[in-house]
Amino acid sequence: MAKIDELNILGVEETARNIVNRKIIPIREYYEPMDITDEQKERRIKAAERLEDAFVIALLLLSEFDETPSEMVLTQVMTQLQSDLLQAYESITTRVDDEDVLAHVSRVSQEIVESTARHFTDPYFTSEDRATVLAENDANYIVSYDEYEDAEADGCTMKRWKTMLDKKVRDSHRDVEGEEVPIGTPFFVGDSLLMFPGDTQFDPDPAEIVNCRCSVEYF
Ligand SMILES: [Zn+2]
Repeated sequence: MAKIDELNILGVEETARNIVNRKIIPIREYYEPMDITDEQKERRIKAAERLEDAFVIALLLLSEFDETPSEMVLTQVMTQLQSDLLQAYESITTRVDDEDVLAHVSRVSQEIVESTARHFTDPYFTSEDRATVLAENDANYIVSYDEYEDAEADGCTMKRWKTMLDKKVRDSHRDVEGEEVPIGTPFFVGDSLLMFPGDTQFDPDPAEIVNCRCSVEYF
């Protein structure tokens, strides 16, 4: 099951399961080398900056407690985070009310709040660094989701997985480099199904998502 706390402790290298290095990549540096257009990069950067605020607020709220917050507090923070994320999404996509998007937001909010509670004594879990990592991964999701829906609406029928082709690409992503499948079919990446990099709908292994710099070309 995809646990966001696992996502957060993955390192700066794209290498999967490198769970010791908590260094973060600043937002602009994260997207700069990706094999996408400047416009696609700017969309992701803006989205991540906007989403970062939502995550910072949630983690700040939780950091004010001396001990693990009660279930009631956790639920309140979860609800607040959901609503802040959806509000941030409104400046990113017109598809905020899509079932997949709503399910994603509710899953992400729950996982983040629960993992913060589970690791409450670890300062990383309420840090701004963590908010940045969460925002980068979530911006990848929502912008990629929007691009997928646009491509489908534009009549594209196929898609191709593109990696950065460098040594940091995790093996499971290198395996699908250049693979072409019908647009409505998920890629089989490692043991996970992904409609596009960062997709969460099939409950993927978080190691296939975090710090991924892959992209998809539709045609
Ligand atoms: Zn990747």
